[in-house]
Amino acid sequence: MALCADRLVGDGTGLGDYHLGLRIVRRNAVASGLIRGRRFAARGEQHHDDNQVHAVHWTTSVLCSMLPVRNVAQLWNLPMAVREILRIGDPRLRQVSVPVEAFDTPELHALIADMFDTMAANDGAGLAAPQIGVSKRIMIFGIESSPRYREVESVPTTVLINPEFDVVEPGLQGFWEGCLSVPGMRGYVERPAGIRYRGRDQYGEPVEREASGFHAIVFQHEYDHLDGILYPDRLEDTTRFGFVDELAAAGVI
Ligand SMILES: [Zn+2]
Repeated sequence: MALCADRLVGDGTGLGDYHLGLRIVRRNAVASGLIRGRRFAARGEQHHDDNQVHAVHWTTSVLCSMLPVRNVAQLWNLPMAVREILRIGDPRLRQVSVPVEAFDTPELHALIADMFDTMAANDGAGLAAPQIGVSKRIMIFGIESSPRYREVESVPTTVLINPEFDVVEPGLQGFWEGCLSVPGMRGYVERPAGIRYRGRDQYGEPVEREASGFHAIVFQHEYDHLDGILYPDRLEDTTRFGFVDELAAAGVI
């Protein structure tokens, strides 16, 4: 059933209020589309066409301004959702994921849309498919600004499938990493400072970039997920690991 939501109210994510003409929303589903080229996440009420009001919670992420979207209508009609994120201890996070063989399929687009919705709903900077229980070599990342990582520079919104990378600057840079699969914690991890990565997007188009700074860190963190590695495995000093609030109270982060 087509539902109509003319008014979207910000949900406290800092993304603001929206009064936009979102017309295609499914009950208990998530819609995505091109609205003024802006990404947003919001919760609100859905209104039936017959003016019955249903206070149905829903979340919407619009990412078209950052994604190489070729067919907006296709995105509009995809059922999407915020998926459960697996937490450390779940053996599925430890599997080595398999390459993707088919590109530009409805299943792949739906999966990636779910990943973006899930990442946005959790204020993440990146997400790998194994984190939502899909053992495929797919990662997404991107950050304009994040409450989780206030201090970092922006990273282009990216879909990378079957990624590979080379280290071009082997000097190490350290960062207090967090992970949606290790909620509430941070750990100090050092990784090569400069890399060149390549892979494909959801349409099968090649993507290749050099990255440094936080961009390089995020890539390497997400790449590790594809091999079943979590950042605590990379800690050189286990005393530099702990709960975010305790580390903050101690002035460490
Ligand atoms: Zn992670």
